[in-house]
This record gives sequence, C-alpha cells and structure tokens, in this order.
Amino acid sequence: MNEDNSRELYDRALSVMPGGVNSAVRAAIEPYPFFVQKGDGGHVIDADGNRYVDWVLGLGPLLLGHDLPEPVQARIQRKASEGPMYGTPTEIEVDLAEFVVRHVPSVEKIRFVNSGTEATTSAVRLARGYTGRNKIVVNQGGYHGAQESTLVEGDAENPRPSSAGVPQSFAEHTLPVPFNDEEAVREVFEEHGDDIAAVLTEPILGNYGIVQPEDGYHEFLRDITAEHGSLLIFDEVITGFRVGGLGCAQSEFGVTPDLTTFGKIIGGGFPVGAIGGRAEIVENFTPSGDVFQAGTFSGHPVTMAAGLETLKFAAENDVYDHVNGIGEQLRTGLEEIVAEQAPEYTVAGTDSMFKVIFTRDGEAPKNAADVKNAETDRWRRIFWGKMKEQGVFLSQNQFECQFVSYGHTEEDVERTLEAYKEAL
Ligand code: PLP
Repeated sequence: MNEDNSRELYDRALSVMPGGVNSAVRAAIEPYPFFVQKGDGGHVIDADGNRYVDWVLGLGPLLLGHDLPEPVQARIQRKASEGPMYGTPTEIEVDLAEFVVRHVPSVEKIRFVNSGTEATTSAVRLARGYTGRNKIVVNQGGYHGAQESTLVEGDAENPRPSSAGVPQSFAEHTLPVPFNDEEAVREVFEEHGDDIAAVLTEPILGNYGIVQPEDGYHEFLRDITAEHGSLLIFDEVITGFRVGGLGCAQSEFGVTPDLTTFGKIIGGGFPVGAIGGRAEIVENFTPSGDVFQAGTFSGHPVTMAAGLETLKFAAENDVYDHVNGIGEQLRTGLEEIVAEQAPEYTVAGTDSMFKVIFTRDGEAPKNAADVKNAETDRWRRIFWGKMKEQGVFLSQNQFECQFVSYGHTEEDVERTLEAYKEAL
C-alpha cells in the first residue's frame, strides 16, 4: 500500500500542529495516520488513492454516510450560498428545534451549541445553577468531551484529574462510579445527596468498548435522582438519533431524563452540540435565566440545515432499518468468527454500533473494569496492520465504538468480515 503522500503530509503537520493533529485520537494510527482526500458512500479515499471501508464515519456524525442525498446536499449548499452566518436568529434554528421537540419527548426546549463538549459543559453548569449544588456523578469509562468537570478518574472517595491542567479542586466536585452499579450510586447519594446537582451518564457507554445498561439501571438512576432533587442528564452525543431511531436511546430504554446532551448526528456532519430538556430547567440559561450560556457560532445556519435535512431524510426513508440491519449482520458475522477464532474476545454493540473487544468477562461487559484489561497491544498490531492493510478503517483505539451509515452495503459487510477472519 503506497502511503507516501500521507507520510509527507504528516511530516508537514508535525512541524505546525501539536502531535500533527487537531484531535488527539487521530494520531493513534501507527506509524502515522492516513490523510483523507474524500469520502464516497461508506468509504473514504486517502491522499494516496487507497480506498477503505469506513466504520469510523467522522467518529459518529455521518448517519447518511459520505454521499449526502440530494435534498440534504441542496439545502446545505443553498444555506452556505446565502452567507455563512449572521449573529442574529434564523428560521432554520427554530425548524430544527421544533423537529427535536416533536421527536424526543423529554425535550421541551433546546439550546444549540457547537460541540458535544460544549453541550456537556453547559449542561453541567445548568444543573449546578438550577439546583444550587456542586457535585456531578459520572461513570468510570464514560466520556463527556474535553471539559474540566468530567476529565476526572478514580472513584467517589478519591477523584483526581485525568488530564494535566485540571485542578484537583475541580475534580473534587466529580464523583466517578462504576456503570451498572446501583450500590455505588446509593452510597454516593447517602454521603453527598444534598450536594449532588446531577448524575451525568451515557445511556450506553460508547467510548469504552460499548457497554449496555442492565435492565432497570436507568430506571434506578431516574428514581434516585428524583428522590434527592438531583437532575438526570443523558449524554446522547453518540446515541442521539442513532440508537432508538428518532426518539434516541432514552426512548429505547423508556426513561425520561431531565436534560439530554446531543452532538454528532444532530448537526449532519457539521460542528454541533445541543442541550435539551424540561422547559422549566432549560429556561435557566441566559437570557431567560441566570446560567450564562452564549456562542458566536451557535445555531449556525449551515449546521442547522445539515442537521434538519439529515433527520428529515431519516424520518422519511428506511435509514434506521438499513443501518440497524447492517449492524446486525456485522455483529452476527463477527460473533461467528470470534467464537471460532478468538473465543476470548467479545462482540459488543446494538443498532448501528459495533465493536470487537479484545477481552471477555462473562457474556457481556457490565462496566469499565470488565473492558479495561483488553489486549491493547494486540489490538493495535492487528488493526493497524492487518485490517488497514486490507482496506478496512476501524476506530483508532481499542475502546471507541464503530458505526454504520446509510451508505454502507452488504458487500462492505462481507469484505469487512473477510478481513476480520484474516486478521484474527
Ligand atoms: N459526549 C460523548 C458521549 C462523546 O462520545 C463525545 C465525543 O465523542 C463528547 C461528549 C464530546 O463531543 P465533541 O467531541 O463534539 O466535543
């Protein structure tokens, strides 16, 4: 595989950008990342003309794949041609807000921002402002973006920053507990109940090997937060408009959070985030309330057009049947391969998310500890050697999930399963 252009671009990038990239995970491909020239359906083509089946999909936003259907394309082009943005409201922001409010029952009002990180940062500030409390309960192995309140590891007794630059005094307001562990949540509420502003959780851990909630876990979180006057925040940056279709993962689990953070798909491939929820809470954002929230690019017309047309297209076509069907084919095929060739590994996922985790602890992982010991080195060797060599692009590390788009075909599934068979 010729990669001269990518290598040259990476050399140039290394001299002007830290680590040669604009987001850390992109540099994880060894010995250097391939630079993408363009997308094509469910594929990407790199700077040297190599073609890959793409299961990364921009890390999740591209529900429709790389070839946007005509109405989506046309609306984006039209919006961009009218002038990029204005710093004053536009109709399309209202259109997308109305669409989300119509389809996600827990969302009565919504504020658009520019990234998932911005959404979770604002949601945490909102929860603190609304409740007048300081502490946030999160899950070990959960990811909520590059923000001070959630770049925290350890446990509720000893929370500590997981990144340089985050003060210990910030980390002390964050209480990490294991996913699916009701007892641990009960204990933090017993100890800190009066000062817990919110429990912030991904409905499915999507950045740590794909971990599903056990039956009743989210209902339990709903009850205990309500009992203590804390908020339940679902971080649906990954699962929103992917798991459970247009109702999102919360509709699949039948649980109504107070707040939901969105990102990725809701912007149709452009920079986006959003915080939605009960009107009485969301109204606390400025200017109607006193929790400061603002952004030059928030509700950007081109993003709003891409998000609205993507979701409308999904509502009017067989998008979810298609992506979930391909997801099922991949998982079934992988389970057969893993059973035969690597029974010590786990196939995880649901709807249009999938992952092979290089460890196995019982039937399915319950929390981060079950996944933590995955064979990271072997994974890197196999995936950055064998899978990439065979033209299959998988998520850049052992823990992040992979996605299916409307642009993927059964042929992509077959090619990918063959590559896994060979690699494993
Ligand atoms: N929340 C979750 C669940 C995510 O997976 C991510 C990113 O992958 C974020 C928040 C942060 O989103 P962004 O990268 O758009 O800032």
